[in-house]
Amino acid sequence: MSEILKLSDIKPGEYAKVLKTGGEGALRQHLLDMGLTPGAALQVIKYAPMGDPLELRIHGYELTLRLSEAACIDVERSDAETASTRTGIYTDIEHPGLGEYGKTHDKSTEDPLPKTSRITFALAGNQNSGKTTLFNALTGSNQHVGNFPGVTVDRKDGVIQGHPETRITDLPGIYSLSPYTREEVVSRSFILDEKPSGIINILDATSIERGLYLTMQLMELNVPIVLALNMMDELRGNGGSVNINRMEALLGIPVVPISASRGDGLQELVDHALHVAKYQERPLRRDFCSEDENGGAVHRAIHGIIHLIEDHAKAAGIPARFAATKLIEGDEMLADQLDLTKNERETVEHIILQMEEERGLDRSAAIADMRFSFIQNLVAESVIHPRESKERERSRRIDKILTGKYTAIPSFILIMAAVFWLTFNVIGAWLQDLLDGGITALGDWVAAAMEHSGASPMLQSLVTEGIFAGVGSVLSFIPIIVILFFFLSLLEDSGYMARIAFVTDKLLRKIGLSGRSIVPMLIGFGCSVPAIMAARTMPSERDRKLTILLTPFMSCTAKLPIYGFLTAAFIPAYAGLVMVSLYLLGILVAVLFAALLKRSAFRGEAVPFVMELPNYRLPGAKNVGRLLWDKAKDFLQRAFTVIFVASLVIWFLQHFDTGLNMVDDPETSILAVVAGTIAPVFKPLGFGSWKFSTALITGFMAKESVVATLTVLFGEGAAIASALTLPAAFSLLVFCLLYTPCVAAIAAVKRELGAKWAAGLVLEQCAIAWIVALAVKVLFELLL
Ligand code: GDP
Ligand code: MG
Repeated sequence: MSEILKLSDIKPGEYAKVLKTGGEGALRQHLLDMGLTPGAALQVIKYAPMGDPLELRIHGYELTLRLSEAACIDVERSDAETASTRTGIYTDIEHPGLGEYGKTHDKSTEDPLPKTSRITFALAGNQNSGKTTLFNALTGSNQHVGNFPGVTVDRKDGVIQGHPETRITDLPGIYSLSPYTREEVVSRSFILDEKPSGIINILDATSIERGLYLTMQLMELNVPIVLALNMMDELRGNGGSVNINRMEALLGIPVVPISASRGDGLQELVDHALHVAKYQERPLRRDFCSEDENGGAVHRAIHGIIHLIEDHAKAAGIPARFAATKLIEGDEMLADQLDLTKNERETVEHIILQMEEERGLDRSAAIADMRFSFIQNLVAESVIHPRESKERERSRRIDKILTGKYTAIPSFILIMAAVFWLTFNVIGAWLQDLLDGGITALGDWVAAAMEHSGASPMLQSLVTEGIFAGVGSVLSFIPIIVILFFFLSLLEDSGYMARIAFVTDKLLRKIGLSGRSIVPMLIGFGCSVPAIMAARTMPSERDRKLTILLTPFMSCTAKLPIYGFLTAAFIPAYAGLVMVSLYLLGILVAVLFAALLKRSAFRGEAVPFVMELPNYRLPGAKNVGRLLWDKAKDFLQRAFTVIFVASLVIWFLQHFDTGLNMVDDPETSILAVVAGTIAPVFKPLGFGSWKFSTALITGFMAKESVVATLTVLFGEGAAIASALTLPAAFSLLVFCLLYTPCVAAIAAVKRELGAKWAAGLVLEQCAIAWIVALAVKVLFELLL
């Protein structure tokens, strides 16, 4: 017997076997769900550049773990994983036909859906298993995005192409059905409450063990289910093979090998899914415990509890098998739903205690172990693992640099710099000039045409100064915005974001955040709305709130037109430098603010950091294309609704006085009077004219509107340059960077955190913006 060590004592490259998983509650369940069960063999791969967290390999996939969490796991050193040496290919024996008796489904309970009813599917799987790719491939463009009822977790619905009677709902990416994250709760209540006719469960065939852990829990829900083995191209390309028929027989559900990104096997998947759903063919097997295994303690406990709670489970509409295993795992939420009597609760507790004693493992570990040993047996019988795949090897080589001890942080900085440089200088700039030229030409042409046809001067002014100046001034930013989104999505889908989280975790913890917070923040450079929603994946409420409060400080793309406009008018020579400084200032303010919050409202430790590091993969062109189109559409929509209307309203208010007479001098217009009342607030900042307060107010609707309004009110560059001193221009830039996020972002915060937080955020950001802008102005007045 070798000595008992902590996982945190294991050096990179060394192998170990888990003896005991410590910790408690959600953290512990999460560790177990991710496969850190007693007996599991693992290899420590490396430590993050700052010494924390560590990366390890277990069950054939890579995980990150903080040292503090690794310290709760007892291990012993072991020899190199005896990698399976089996090679060969399972020759493709004919796949069982649809609904073949007894092969993959339980036909005894067959109860076909009425012909006319809508067939609904839930699409479930791990993160990075290819869910989005499959969803897009199946639905084409028939998609609808919304929220799950009552909670704010993204919900995408679509219709399977060619089958208008279907609806498929993309569930969030999850690893288990424990009640510890919103994603898991949402997924499980969706299946239990909305009762989809079937589940399409997608898993990454290159880390099959990981995916099957979820599959087994989904099967316990006793809903017709089809398993889609994705990434088969990658598996086969590296000499791996799956005996599909054997796996089907062992699991008792149809298994279809697919490649979502290439579109292989999708037709077969749809056929099988429609079939099991139509005929309501439920999984043949829901029982994964064996009476011979480890004395059968777990088996007896599960079945004992099933019988005990059967009536309650039926009444609550929860499958008894699922209820029983969750009860054993200590799932309080489910215990409440079952509404057990005190006596029954105690009996359940006794059964569990007995099992713990006989099995020598505590409840959660015993269940996780039961699942993983079933998986191991299944995989041993039906899967030939690929040799060290090209993709993994490539990932490892890339990681040597991107997460290497000395190269990680410089690479990160370089990559981000390259992204911004390419976006603004190389690709974005000339596209923008091109578009700008086009819009100006069109504007001139329309102006000339109107002049020629003798349209009234008022109409001419409305069209040229109102519409073209307003909407046109922001429209030309569309290429830059789309390109920035392109790079951000590339970073995210390629798997690099997860590495950034791994590398920066220790740094972010110093300001009370976790590595995961960096993902929403980076997305925040694109737009705060998806960034705020991306914070949903954070496992702790505290971190989620903190991250949401900080993302609006990241300079979003809508603020770009403001920077572009003002730098062009004031210091064109240093435009780039000013822009970079603004981005950095946003980050700096966020860091200081976080440090402040950590010391006051947000005391406490950051959450566990157990995260999968997927292989690097190139995202599919179609997916990227769709995303970019969505972003462009979004922006265009805003340009022609909010900004269009705002430009018109501003034009109108500027040209009429309170008696609705047209004015010659804008100083007497309605706008001057109304906006003039709040203008004094900005006097100390150097931009006390009503024109600026108007622009800032319209910026509340959409940040691009600030520029639209300024152009309507001042005309192009020159006039504004004489209205502000240089320090005042800096102060205006800083104020625009930091002040309240736009309505859409505030609405997102309200959805996520409630009205109080949203209102607080607006006030807090305005106050911070005011103070920092003043400081900047004073500083520059001293310097210049
Ligand atoms: P999600 O996180 O589950 O939504 O996964 P995505 O759909 O974003 O896919 C993750 C990555 O895997 C993307 O880079 C995809 O391009 C890639 N991918 C998806 N399906 C396949 C496949 O069948 N084969 C290969 N080689 N890559 C795939
Ligand atoms: Mg996805």
